[in-house]
Amino acid sequence: MRAFNFSAGPATLPTEVMLEVQEQLLNWQNSGMSVMELSHRSPEFAGILNETELDLRDILALPDHYRIIFCQEGASAHWDMIPLNLLQGNHQADYIETGYWSYRAIEEGRRYCNINIAASNRIDHFSALPDRAEWRLNPKAAYVHYCSNETIDGLEFFWTPDVGNVPLVVDMSSHFLSRPMDITKFGMVYAGAQKNIGPAGLSLAIIREDLLKPAAPGTPFLMDYHGQFHAHSMLNTPPTFTIWVAGLVFKWIKRNGGLTQMAVRNAEKARLLYDFLDKSAFYRNSVKVQDRSLMNVPFHLREPALDEVFLKEAELSGLKQLRGHRVVGGMRASIYNAMPIEGVQALINFMADFERRYG
Ligand code: PMP
Repeated sequence: MRAFNFSAGPATLPTEVMLEVQEQLLNWQNSGMSVMELSHRSPEFAGILNETELDLRDILALPDHYRIIFCQEGASAHWDMIPLNLLQGNHQADYIETGYWSYRAIEEGRRYCNINIAASNRIDHFSALPDRAEWRLNPKAAYVHYCSNETIDGLEFFWTPDVGNVPLVVDMSSHFLSRPMDITKFGMVYAGAQKNIGPAGLSLAIIREDLLKPAAPGTPFLMDYHGQFHAHSMLNTPPTFTIWVAGLVFKWIKRNGGLTQMAVRNAEKARLLYDFLDKSAFYRNSVKVQDRSLMNVPFHLREPALDEVFLKEAELSGLKQLRGHRVVGGMRASIYNAMPIEGVQALINFMADFERRYG
């Protein structure tokens, strides 16, 4: 029996997809071997890569002038690759600070250019997004970087900032494919795989064609988006198995009504959980209501001394990996696409019972 797994990533994958993987693990499409064992230069793998990309384009309704690169690096590596590829001789970039992950991008980006933190909600302890009217953007910046879903702090942008002609670059790692998104508002989108895409070991970069130029001199060749794009994401051996599983996840999304349906299910799951939290005096989520993430729901017990008991009892009830990130403590329920509504209901039932017993 599979547990309800609330990990922020690597996260739960659709059971249907896991069964397909199991079925084809030893003998992919009667080839007599596993996808893991296929040469990345074989026509079979070229077919897998091509189909995976086409399915993703279809899901996102992505126009042709947006190019997709499959990267072996995690989402963090893009904090270096973005300045190396997008500065193009400029020394200024704008960053928006809204939580832990956007801050990490800033720290890394400082190695390459002068960073203007155009807006920050640090003073509010990352509990509400800074209003667009407060952003102090530099019109000469090479790009504006932000993170549209803060996995740890539990904030999500439900609006896309208008930043004029400066390319907008977004880390969508933890809510990519969770609802329809208009990619054409961005110069570049990136996301690590291990949440809504597939197993760890892959990240995706979607880049507007005019921004794909050779990277700064001295850039390691694998970190050059332009080079990687022209090599069809195969400057070296790509994570073949992970790409295959990501492709199965994309087909699962398509079979299940695409992003429109993902959005309906995700909104319902999050509504149930936040409603429950708001009605309780025992649990608390301190993010401003309009900015609450539909994917990552951090919460605290009124009595932190009960945290360990909560986690232990939850685990025994088949509700796993609810421990909050070490920088914020408490709990966190990540309820990505693959988390069924039954998982959220089971969590709420457990929490209500725990409150009755300890509250
Ligand atoms: N950005 C966001 C929003 C994340 O949630 C994470 C990881 N949880 C990262 C970046 C870093 O990803 P990776 O570990 O794949 O480098």
